[in-house]
Amino acid sequence: MNIPIPSILEIGEGVVWRMDDIVRTYRFSKAVMLFDDFTYRTYEQDMKQAISSVPVHTVCLPPQLDIVDIMKKAFELPHCDVMIAMGGGAVIDCGKYMAFLRQVPFISIPTSASNDGFASTNCSLLVNGKKTTVPAKVPFGILADLNIIQQAPERFILAGIGDLMSNITALYDWEFEQNHGVSRVNAFAAMISKKAVNSFIRTPMQNIKHPIFLKELISSLTMGGISTVISGNSAPISGSEHLISHALDKMSSAPQMHGIQVGIATYIMAHVQQHRAERITKVFTRTGFFDYAKTLHLSKDEYRQAIDIAPTIKPNRYTYIHDEQYRKRAIRLLDEDHILKEIFT
Ligand SMILES: [Zn+2]
Repeated sequence: MNIPIPSILEIGEGVVWRMDDIVRTYRFSKAVMLFDDFTYRTYEQDMKQAISSVPVHTVCLPPQLDIVDIMKKAFELPHCDVMIAMGGGAVIDCGKYMAFLRQVPFISIPTSASNDGFASTNCSLLVNGKKTTVPAKVPFGILADLNIIQQAPERFILAGIGDLMSNITALYDWEFEQNHGVSRVNAFAAMISKKAVNSFIRTPMQNIKHPIFLKELISSLTMGGISTVISGNSAPISGSEHLISHALDKMSSAPQMHGIQVGIATYIMAHVQQHRAERITKVFTRTGFFDYAKTLHLSKDEYRQAIDIAPTIKPNRYTYIHDEQYRKRAIRLLDEDHILKEIFT
């Protein structure tokens, strides 16, 4: 088995300034670099300086591009032998997909740690106006510059924490599924995903903007992303809690950040599974995740509906949420759990 993993992985302060080294090492001769509105205004000039040894064609992508727009745009761009994207999840996913279509290496420069998309094979794109998971390739390079990521508002970090903690419930779902003869757990992928979240859990959490905390969060999210390359599916980091979030994306009147929805659903599902719920509660309390969730005025009705339709998102899987008795338990929790009572209106 030949598993593609990123050739470049730099997580640290000021790592974007190593771009010229990277370009020379891999003998790239022409780069296309994608930004969103914010990163274009803030970092385009710096990045042009950071990559001075080859021509760079920079592009500011408009928000809310549909998959069809992305395909068109991908082939309108000039010739290049490397594509780079800098920004939040949306621009990274666009870049990942365009590079996949153009069959050139992709370098991901996340400006926030809000989910594991910067290190995963899939991208979440708009198809007919709805967020949909689309297959692509794992990035050739990941450059997570902590000086930049530190500047993103705290809610982005909290979302990343939510997305990472979901490894716990996802892995338990995967075992459940195997016990029901529906799939087989890939032991190596499961081990990496579990080690990633367990290592994160032991990090001091007083200051979520501390470089050590951020490095731990980002490296753990990266390991989670890579575990899906090994298993060939998203099961090691995505179970029932992700199905609830995907359901919310489809029906909620105001969908929240992926990692925030996933984090709340992780808390719910850990109680349903009766597995490591206490640990998850501690992490979400200490980091301020729950305090932030309480400010969002989330609708209990929408979560109830999302739990109900979650199994239909992936009918071929068999997670806890696919079993009616556990769905009922999840819905009961929305009314009974004291933390959820404070989160929902
Ligand atoms: Zn996720």
